[in-house]
Amino acid sequence: MLLAPKLSCPTVPLSNGLQIPIFGLGTSHDGGYSHDTIVYALTECGVRHIDTAKRYGCEENLGNAIRESGIPRRDLWVTNKLWPGDYGYKAAKKACLDSCSQMGVTYFDLYLMHWPESTQPGCSNREMRAETWRALEELHKERLCSAIGVSNFLVRHLEELKEDCSVVPHVNQVFTNDMTHQVEYHPFQQPNQLVEYCRQEGIVFEGYSPLAKGQVLNNPTILRIAQKYRRTSAQICIRWSIQNGVVTIPKSIKKERIQENCQVFGFHLEESDMATLASLDDGRHVTWDPTNVE
Ligand code: NDP
Repeated sequence: MLLAPKLSCPTVPLSNGLQIPIFGLGTSHDGGYSHDTIVYALTECGVRHIDTAKRYGCEENLGNAIRESGIPRRDLWVTNKLWPGDYGYKAAKKACLDSCSQMGVTYFDLYLMHWPESTQPGCSNREMRAETWRALEELHKERLCSAIGVSNFLVRHLEELKEDCSVVPHVNQVFTNDMTHQVEYHPFQQPNQLVEYCRQEGIVFEGYSPLAKGQVLNNPTILRIAQKYRRTSAQICIRWSIQNGVVTIPKSIKKERIQENCQVFGFHLEESDMATLASLDDGRHVTWDPTNVE
């Protein structure tokens, strides 16, 4: 991992040469939105990576917060996501432009297909994913999206996309310890097979819900490790993701918790504690589960 000159945290290289900050701020609609907290995260905590989605309903507010922070656009990493209701070639291109306009930006650093299942009638999920991905490839070529990726995609979805399209996703965001997808990733949910697949294919693994929406915080094992390092459970889980090389995007609408969640670079978890945290996987999902999406 390299230390980016203008960013306050280490970065992970994407296959196209860009560097994504390993720590970002989630903005899901779950739990609400706070304008002041976003501005605080950017101006006082040095956060330079924001994760959002059309689905979260805060694009316009986020754009306002970014402008109020005074941080130049080029110094920020902004990820946005395309909702399945906008899948299809033409709809996807329009949705990306609309999202840029809502946020008042001219490009996204990363644009993801939010979910592998299509809500559009008339063609299979596989066909719709491929048609939509071709739109993202175009948006990438036109530089509206510096990097493109997927979210909640499993190995079979990625394999099909590889057969049908030309650009391999730069990122997969998931809820697990997978290395280049944006998915759920916390000690209770570690999609190691997916992580390994992404590593082999050069797809950066991004893990969402690193605190399992708060469920990890009172786990006795995590509390014990937190006590050993004089840190909080949240810091231990975020640090665990980072030490696994997984891009992580915890969310909070409280200033003091964002401050706390950012304090994860001044200590190192020992191998034995990393292994103990890895042993907590019980297959639990705290959000949606793509297992049955064809
Ligand atoms: P997280 O695992 O980040 O947990 C968020 C919850 O933890 C909130 O209730 C928050 O409450 C609480 N919390 C945060 N920090 C602390 C702390 N230090 N101490 C105690 N409690 C804390 O859940 P999310 O599901 O929000 O995941 C993070 C982000 O990942 C999302 O916001 C979104 O950007 C992305 N995501 C992507 C998905 C996808 O399909 N691609 C799906 C789900 C999430 P409070 O706000 O009150 O502090």
